[in-house]
Amino acid sequence: MVNNPAEFGMLLGAHMSIAGGIDSSVDRAADFEMNALQIFSHNVRSWDTRELTEEEIEGFKKKREEFGVDYAVVHTSYLLNLASPKEDLWEKSKKGLVEEIRRAHLLDIPAINTHIGAHTGSGLETGIDRLVEALKEIETTDVFENSSVKVLLENTAGEGTKLGSDFAELGEVLDKLDYPDRYGVCIDTCHGFAAGYDFATEAGLEETLEEFDREVGLNKLDLIHLNDSVGERGLHKDRHTHIGRGEIGNEGFAAVVNHPDTRKLPFILETPKEKLDGIEADRVNLDKVMDLRE
Ligand SMILES: [Zn+2]
Ligand SMILES: [Zn+2]
Repeated sequence: MVNNPAEFGMLLGAHMSIAGGIDSSVDRAADFEMNALQIFSHNVRSWDTRELTEEEIEGFKKKREEFGVDYAVVHTSYLLNLASPKEDLWEKSKKGLVEEIRRAHLLDIPAINTHIGAHTGSGLETGIDRLVEALKEIETTDVFENSSVKVLLENTAGEGTKLGSDFAELGEVLDKLDYPDRYGVCIDTCHGFAAGYDFATEAGLEETLEEFDREVGLNKLDLIHLNDSVGERGLHKDRHTHIGRGEIGNEGFAAVVNHPDTRKLPFILETPKEKLDGIEADRVNLDKVMDLRE
């Protein structure tokens, strides 16, 4: 008998591959009895996006219903840089984000999750201005206006010149946008820990969430990426590892999955796809998270 997150009152799943068609991601999630799922909406190593087929779209929706995958989110392409000072990349990134919204809408997926970009040397404030300008332009598109897809901004580890490692930056960006209801935030525990926030203890989490509430607002928190961290706190290293096997550890994840402000949110694993003692790592990580749930 496999543990099922619904029995724990949780929305829990992982990022799953779309190889073989978007709808096959739901089969993969169902194999692990996940009730939440994150996908890419296309091959994210390329700017070219193949149009989704009617078969995939219908298959995706039907399978989600059939297998009880109650939550789904699209993770945008890593090629996007909405804060780029380079005109061509910035233009492509805006089009890219609109395309992600369009595809999520077609698939009945309520949200896309995106990294907010890197200033690549132009400076933090210039990067933020650029990002806000990009999002405001996106807000005027028919695709944005004719859908209700939410755009979730993900915190980062703060590697290089990436924006969004500081909750205050996310708050600043959100304050400047014109459709507050269409935006939310995703906290990635590995990224937050690498950026210096304490996710390893109950007291640390309490403090971290208080700061998030001050800078962004807990009502904006829509999604949690559950990833342990290979690197120590504050090292700005974005290296995910299995739940409980990194520097955040069991105590930290027990706090995250049980805290009254986070326990009802969807939890998505982005932990390495490999085998642990002969068992699929997704299975091991899902079981670990349910084990920590009170
Ligand atoms: Zn991400
Ligand atoms: Zn993440």
